[in-house]
Amino acid sequence: MTQKSTHDLAVIGMGMNGMLNAICLAGLKTASGKAVSVCIADKDPEPLKRFELDNRTIALSGFAKALLDELKVDIEAEPLGIIDYIYTFEKSTRPILEFAKEQNNNQPIGWIVKGRVLLNALYKKMQELDNIDIKNGCEITQLASTSDTAIINGGQISAELCVVCDGKASPSARLLGVKRYSHSYNQKSLSFVIEHETEHKNIAVEQFTPNGPFATLPLANSHQSGVVWSLNGSLADTLLAMPQRRLIMHLNEECKRLKNIGFVKQIVSNPRAYPLEISILAKMHCGRFYFAGDAYNAIHPVAGQAFNMGVKDAAMLKDAVQSHLSLGLDAGLKTCINEAANARIKHHLSLNIATHFLVKLYSNANPLTKLIRTAGLDVFNQFSTLKNLAFKNASGL
Ligand SMILES: Cc1cc2nc3c(=O)[nH]c(=O)nc-3n(C[C@H](O)[C@H](O)[C@H](O)COP(=O)(O)OP(=O)(O)OC[C@H]3O[C@@H](n4cnc5c(N)ncnc54)[C@H](O)[C@@H]3O)c2cc1C
Repeated sequence: MTQKSTHDLAVIGMGMNGMLNAICLAGLKTASGKAVSVCIADKDPEPLKRFELDNRTIALSGFAKALLDELKVDIEAEPLGIIDYIYTFEKSTRPILEFAKEQNNNQPIGWIVKGRVLLNALYKKMQELDNIDIKNGCEITQLASTSDTAIINGGQISAELCVVCDGKASPSARLLGVKRYSHSYNQKSLSFVIEHETEHKNIAVEQFTPNGPFATLPLANSHQSGVVWSLNGSLADTLLAMPQRRLIMHLNEECKRLKNIGFVKQIVSNPRAYPLEISILAKMHCGRFYFAGDAYNAIHPVAGQAFNMGVKDAAMLKDAVQSHLSLGLDAGLKTCINEAANARIKHHLSLNIATHFLVKLYSNANPLTKLIRTAGLDVFNQFSTLKNLAFKNASGL
């Protein structure tokens, strides 16, 4: 018979969001000053092998970087890339949106960490904390809420509150019968690292093409950038199947207007394709289960904001749970869950609308749409208030 374990709090899923939530919650104390016990479970028996396959370059906002530093998650096993400037433009037009560190008191607009480095750092931090019980190879197949307990896999794990971070397909949301609204972009993002001829000068570039957005993110090595290349239909698979020499030819076609990249010399990491969709649950919680990360809301990577959003959600949940525990109250009470969810839902909705609008407006070759968006962004670029608002959003400040 499977051993049963009872904890104060539980987390399902060991992706970026699950591990971050577990670390945040493990820092909390009960009213008597005792550290809470946290259990985190993932179906994957060997997460470290999975982390090595993650070749994404993740743009972190100032808020996310500050929280990871505060939690002492060492994401600097490899030096971080720094974003000092962001240029956004459409093929064959001049830059339509520019953000600079000068708008941010000369501080970086964001940081770039490799996905595998971030995942390994979060896992290492969890292992260092005595009050986190890590259960690998533990697939969650049954969930139930009673008046005072979240019961997982028929009691294999139980806790006052369970944070569900099992990804955008979220089997837990299905088990709990929570409706998901989703829309596939019929796009895949190719993610990999390139080495280029020119120094990137800490510039991140987003170039909109009718096939989808093409982004380069500056890494610590000034001749290397992460690429997030979103492509319509089966184009991503076609490019993936090509010999590297031909893929580099296509890359150079995309990069020829990017003055900070110059000529692409080689592809440094194996490209991987990620299917893209927008999806959000009808509610952020159900009984004693609270949804977070992609399990609650997955978005297109065009603005590089999904994990950054998850970090703000984790910080909000941590504060709500701490205020309840300090009063000797149960963390799974509706008041606690509502406090965290209500503060975040409107941010999710506005980010969903903004990213969806951006993808739809730009992945389109219609000449009228093109005229409207160029004129619109020209106006937008000239108004500092609008631009500053967008800057704050883009940098997650
Ligand atoms: C190409 C690309 C680039 C991106 N760039 C950025 C960026 O620059 N900035 C940014 O903020 N965001 C970015 N994102 C978004 C970010 O990567 C995701 O939001 C984030 O990785 C999602 O993490 P998660 O923990 O929510 O889910 P996942 O990583 O999907 O983790 C889910 C976990 O749940 C486990 N699981 C699933 N089912 C079960 C079950 N039944 N029982 C137990 N465990 C289960 C899985 O094994 C997995 O470990 C990008 C995304 C893509 C695709």
